[in-house]
Amino acid sequence: MNIHEYQSRELLQKFGIPVPPGILVQNPVASEKAFDELQKRHGSKVCVVKAQVHAGGRGKGGGVKLVKSGDEARKAANDILSRPLITPQTPPEGVPVMKLLVAAGVEIEKEYYLAITVDRVSACPVLIASSEGGMDIEEVARTKPEAIIREPISAVAGLRPYQARKICYFLGFKGTQVRMAGKIMHQLADLFLKADANLAEINPLVVTKATDEHPDGTVLALDAKLNFDDNALFRQDDVVAFEDPTEEEPAERRAKQFGLSYIKLDGEIGCLVNGAGLAMATMDIIKLHGSEPANFLDVGGSASEEAVTEAFRIILADKTVKGILVNIFGGIAKCDTIAKAIIVAAKEVGFTVPLVVRLEGTNVEPARKILEEAKGELPTMEIGSDLTDAAKKITALTGAPAA
Ligand code: GDP
Ligand code: MN
Repeated sequence: MNIHEYQSRELLQKFGIPVPPGILVQNPVASEKAFDELQKRHGSKVCVVKAQVHAGGRGKGGGVKLVKSGDEARKAANDILSRPLITPQTPPEGVPVMKLLVAAGVEIEKEYYLAITVDRVSACPVLIASSEGGMDIEEVARTKPEAIIREPISAVAGLRPYQARKICYFLGFKGTQVRMAGKIMHQLADLFLKADANLAEINPLVVTKATDEHPDGTVLALDAKLNFDDNALFRQDDVVAFEDPTEEEPAERRAKQFGLSYIKLDGEIGCLVNGAGLAMATMDIIKLHGSEPANFLDVGGSASEEAVTEAFRIILADKTVKGILVNIFGGIAKCDTIAKAIIVAAKEVGFTVPLVVRLEGTNVEPARKILEEAKGELPTMEIGSDLTDAAKKITALTGAPAA
């Protein structure tokens, strides 16, 4: 699960990580007021107006604007809210912006990258840091891999003090920066472990310009991106409270309510499958036969009639779907039960696109009979004898070039 930057900042602060103050707004007038308020309360001479969307790279797309007056803050807000934000991480048409964060601006001496994520190879959290902050870490990894340090973190003991010191030394922190940055690393590790995060990224972590009070500057988090393990949300009420339904694909949200794992894709063949592995194999074989899947959809091992009906609805609501391939392995759920569910669901939803059904497993024979008998009622349905046959049929029926 993803959350917004303003929410991430809130969580960072809860774990003690210093973040510049900010105010969430939804219109240009409120943006101007927020600027005045930050100026009055914190003496901010500049602010940043930042689009709040679940996508990064906002700076590059014009979604982060430095402003020096209330007037500029209003204009920047108007500008950002007036059109979809397109960044390297959004779909090509961009995403709508509904909320903005007006944050006190800071004078940056240097930007760093600091993140914790799960290293699936070594099966433990890993802290990743670089003195090349502000930019894409993937880009740094490609062009300057020696500028990145990776430090495994014990999920039990957390980040150890010697590790924080090693990372500070690598990044070139000096004087009082070492203590400040080290503390932030410990706090971020604490957040990552306690909040069941998948990713806790601060980019940029900055050292501010020197002042009389802070000759080495101060260390602050200017942007944060947090992602959480969906399977741990049952024990993360604070995180669940951050959920923003407007940021999710509506069909994916509906699917979630019915216990379906659904991800929309760009192709034309809708897939209805039980089991994630089988769903992957189904998408592969569709591609192999020259077509593209319109979605990933796993109805789960039990595949109830209700879930299958909802799955049909979701797939058919997608206007790019030219045909549906149902691929079910009857294990715990028996094929004949599923065949009945498919017929009831298909009849209830009602559609005209080709449908190819392939069933295998427990009670497959009676299931095939049930499907055969229902052909009169479901004229666009065909039965696949095996997965290859089913994939060939659906790609042919939807007009894909023969592969
Ligand atoms: P992202 O592009 O979505 O990752 O958004 P960020 O919040 O990271 O902002 C992008 C860039 O804007 C940062 O790398 C900074 O260079 C710049 N920026 C953000 N906040 C400030 C600020 O308070 N002061 C200054 N001078 N630059 C900022
Ligand atoms: Mn950033």
